[in-house]
Amino acid sequence: MRSRAAQKCIQLVVFQQFLGLSPTHSTTISMMSSKVAVVTGGNKGIGLAIVRALCERFRGDIYLTARDEGRGREAVASLSAEGLKVDFHRLDVTDVGSIAVAADFFKRKYGGVDVLVNNAGIAFKVADTTPFATQADVTLRTNYFGTRDVLTHFLPLVKAGGRVVNVSSFVSVRSLNKCGARLRERFRSDDIGEDELTALMERFVELAGKGEHEREGWPQTAYGVSKIGVTTLSMIHARRLSKERPDDQILVNACCPGWVRTDMAGPQAPKSPEDGAVTPVFLALLPAGASEPHGKFVSDETVQTW
Ligand code: NDP
Repeated sequence: MRSRAAQKCIQLVVFQQFLGLSPTHSTTISMMSSKVAVVTGGNKGIGLAIVRALCERFRGDIYLTARDEGRGREAVASLSAEGLKVDFHRLDVTDVGSIAVAADFFKRKYGGVDVLVNNAGIAFKVADTTPFATQADVTLRTNYFGTRDVLTHFLPLVKAGGRVVNVSSFVSVRSLNKCGARLRERFRSDDIGEDELTALMERFVELAGKGEHEREGWPQTAYGVSKIGVTTLSMIHARRLSKERPDDQILVNACCPGWVRTDMAGPQAPKSPEDGAVTPVFLALLPAGASEPHGKFVSDETVQTW
């Protein structure tokens, strides 16, 4: 089955040939005029449910991305077996090269992206005996630094009216409240920038490496700190976009999907992946012209206190 964009192109080419025109230039323009949504970590869990929900409600092409091509294509095939049309692109959020290749692909093929859902994430199990220093390093590398790198490459590509959804967690709020007063004040402040936030995340990893993080007011949770980073970064980017591209009406938010039955959270969680996709998809499909939420932390489709 061909994508809607590809079908549109073929129709255009046939029409151009009928008129005796060269198709090349207009074909590119036609591809660029179709909308595109990109989901990271889309091969399973909440990411896959987000892709499935977008298939039903987003008018445009949808890219399931995954770090592993085999797992990604398998997920695309499973959706195809359900009659859903999804495209695949490889994207490992810890591999800047793969982020750059993907960003370039969407720039060339679509002139940018309309919806970006940063869903990819990892968490060590509570019972995992990996030293905390390693857990801090590995967890932040994916959840904070990976998400930040994706945003560095993709945010400039987000088109006017675009929506950016960063899947954080309610654990970010809980962990924020466990931070010392100085750190809490910085994460909540309106004047923290990306450089300061990244330096704080690096500092946490460094201190965790020496077992000294709690002495400087950090909580004993690598996942929690990584998601503090994701939520705060979303707020920073929202403020920056409002300042630098005020007319583009791009909305950036962080969200919590709830406690969801996935490989990450286990079988006891109350929500299905489809339930977990509700808030991310709500934010991804905020209607044209909406001005809020923007720069917020959202759970159950409702703005939460940060
Ligand atoms: P899963 O473990 O089921 O899925 C995580 C997804 O992220 C997988 O597709 C995984 O790919 C992908 N991923 C991990 N590392 C990378 C990477 N380096 N590059 C690209 N993709 C990567 O978890 P969930 O579906 O539960 O979690 C999805 C998001 O929701 C995460 O950000 C998580 O923190 C958040 N969340 C989940 C909650 C829950 O209760 N489940 C609660 C709150 C937040 P692969 O298959 O290759 O490992």
